[in-house]
Amino acid sequence: MTDKSTIRVVGDPPRSAPVLVGETILESLLQAGVPFPNNCQLGNCGACKCELVEGDILELPSSEYALNEEERGRGLILACRTQAWGDCTVRMLEADETVLHPSRLLRCTVLELEELTHDIKGLKLSIASGGPYAFSPGQHARLKFAPGIPERSYSMANRPDQELLEFHVRQVPRGQASGFVFSNLRPGAELTVSGPFGSAFLREQHAGPILAVAGGSGLAPIRSIVEAALKAQPDREVHLYFGVRDERDVYLERWWIELQSRCPRFSVHVVLSQPSGATSRRTGLLSDVAPDDFSSFDGFKAYVAGPPPMVEAMQSKLEARGVARRDIHADAFYDQTQDAFNLG
Ligand SMILES: Cc1cc2nc3c(=O)[nH]c(=O)nc-3n(C[C@H](O)[C@H](O)[C@H](O)COP(=O)(O)OP(=O)(O)OC[C@H]3O[C@@H](n4cnc5c(N)ncnc54)[C@H](O)[C@@H]3O)c2cc1C
Repeated sequence: MTDKSTIRVVGDPPRSAPVLVGETILESLLQAGVPFPNNCQLGNCGACKCELVEGDILELPSSEYALNEEERGRGLILACRTQAWGDCTVRMLEADETVLHPSRLLRCTVLELEELTHDIKGLKLSIASGGPYAFSPGQHARLKFAPGIPERSYSMANRPDQELLEFHVRQVPRGQASGFVFSNLRPGAELTVSGPFGSAFLREQHAGPILAVAGGSGLAPIRSIVEAALKAQPDREVHLYFGVRDERDVYLERWWIELQSRCPRFSVHVVLSQPSGATSRRTGLLSDVAPDDFSSFDGFKAYVAGPPPMVEAMQSKLEARGVARRDIHADAFYDQTQDAFNLG
C-alpha cells in the first residue's frame, strides 16, 4: 500500500479519506470527519454494513448476525471490521437516510441525577463548551466520566430541540462506568460527551405508523424517538412496548400517560418478563408479545433498543412477519468491555 491510498465513499456528494494504516475503513473515515453510519464499532450490530465497490481489503472477524454469508457473497462488508490495503471504494446502504451531524466533543456539567428505578439513574447535563450539539432522536454519545473510567456509549433520552442532554444509565454488576455513576457522580461534576453516533435514528421522511420497542434502559433512545415523532405529528399512530423484568423496573410512566392525553393514537404496553406477584400488566417476552398484536405491519417502521438478546429476537420475529430489514432500526446495547472478535 502506498502512503497515499484513499477510501472513497460513493454518494452525493462523494467523499474520501486517507487510509490510516492499521485502522479500519470506519476509523479512517470518521477520523477524517467523513460521516458514516455506525453503531457498536465492534462487528456486532451491522450498522456500518456497506458495499465494497472495489479495492484490496482485509476483513477481520465479525458476528454472523451483523454480516452473514449471503451478504458477503453480494460484496457487502462491515466498515468497522475491514482494513483497506490500498485504494478502495465503498457505497453506503440507505444513503438517503444517512444523517450528517457534525461530530462534537462537549464538556458538560451534571445538573441533576435522578433515581428512575432501583438500578437506573437519569442524568441531566448542560453543555459548558463544544456545542452546539445536533443529533437525531435514537442516536447515542460516548460519555467519559473521569480519568481512569472507560468511555461508554449512552443514548440521548431527550429530544434534539431540548436544551439539556438526558441519559439513562443502568447499573451493571461490577460495571466500571455505570458503577462510577452510581457511587461517585454528583451534581456539578464535569464530564466529556462525544458524538453523535448510531444509525437507529428516527427516519423523518417516514410518516407512517411506528412500532417502538424498548427493553430496560433502552427506553432512553425510544423516548427520544417517540417524543420527536409525536411532537411533529401528534395524531400519528405510535405503539410503544416497554419490557422489563418486574414492576419495580417500570419507569417514566407519568411521561407516557401525559403524552397519551395529548396524542390519541399513541398506545403503551408494559410487558413484565418475570413478575414477582400478581399483575395487571402484560407478561412474557417482548418478542413474543409485541408482534402478535398486529395483523399487518404495512407501512410501519420499527425502532428497537435495549439488551442484545431482546433486540435480536425482535428483529428476527419482525423479519419473519415480513417487515423488511430497512424498516427495522435496531440499537442493541452491546457489552463494550473488550473487542469481542480479537483484532489481533
Ligand atoms: C450503542 C449503545 C448504546 C447504549 N446506550 C445505553 C443507555 O442508554 N443506557 C445504558 O444503561 N446503557 C447503554 N449502553 C450500554 C453501556 O454503554 C455500557 O455497556 C454499560 O453501561 C456497562 O458499562 P460499564 O462500564 O458499567 O460495565 P463494564 O465495566 O463494561 O462491564 C462490567 C461487567 O458487566 C458485563 N456487562 C457489560 N455490559 C453489560 C450489559 N449491558 N449487560 C450485562 N452485562 C454487561 C461485562 O462483560 C463485565 O463483566 C449502550 C451501549 C451501546 C453499544
